[in-house]
Amino acid sequence: MHYDYSSVRKEMVKRQLIPRGIRDPRVLEAMGKVPREAFVPDAMKADAYDDRPLPIGQDQTISQPYIVALMTEALELTGTEMVLEVGTGSGYQAAVLAELCDTVYTVERIEPLMENAKRILQNLGYANIRYKVYNGTLGWPEYAPYDGIIVTAAAPRTPRPLLEQLTEGGRVVVPVGDRLSQNLIKVTKEKQGYFEKNLGGVRFVPLMGDYGWKE
Ligand code: SAH
Repeated sequence: MHYDYSSVRKEMVKRQLIPRGIRDPRVLEAMGKVPREAFVPDAMKADAYDDRPLPIGQDQTISQPYIVALMTEALELTGTEMVLEVGTGSGYQAAVLAELCDTVYTVERIEPLMENAKRILQNLGYANIRYKVYNGTLGWPEYAPYDGIIVTAAAPRTPRPLLEQLTEGGRVVVPVGDRLSQNLIKVTKEKQGYFEKNLGGVRFVPLMGDYGWKE
């Protein structure tokens, strides 16, 4: 059956994002453009725009569209930023970021997930994304500092190396809490120190390794 993804995508923006308060026109445009169906397993393509996370294999998930939009909006991107993503997963969040900033540096610990995400992103023509199979709780020191850092897995606390890899004025968005439920925290690095804001309750798969959860 042929499925009109672009109209379901527009409906998602209209029904899931705008009523919940996503305002940044650039974020809404990117969410209305990136083909989420390309990042979900074949058997789930018809569910790609459902209002929930979906399994992507290896016990991992692609986040709910609203959560992707909320985290992206919190980074306050204008197009010039260097952004680090910890937890490439399907690659969907990386594509949304790539629409909105200068360069995305994305790190994933599970090699087959990274290979799959990279293939999809390259086929879609994204040329401003750099990839690394690595423990992302350590950031990606080589290209630091970053204007924005997004962590798409749940941490017991904000990993210290990520705070250190922020520019002044830079922000990190990270789910912090226990293994089952967390709060989405935005930390902004100012001259005077770090400022935290709670963006609300979320549920993410765990961030593994040093500064994350033990295996
Ligand atoms: N942003 C993804 C969602 C990823 S789910 C998307 O758009 O689809 C969280 C991902 O974080 C999983 O793929 C998991 O393997 C990865 N992850 C967990 N701990 C990690 C770590 N320490 N370093 C890098 N990636 C990690």
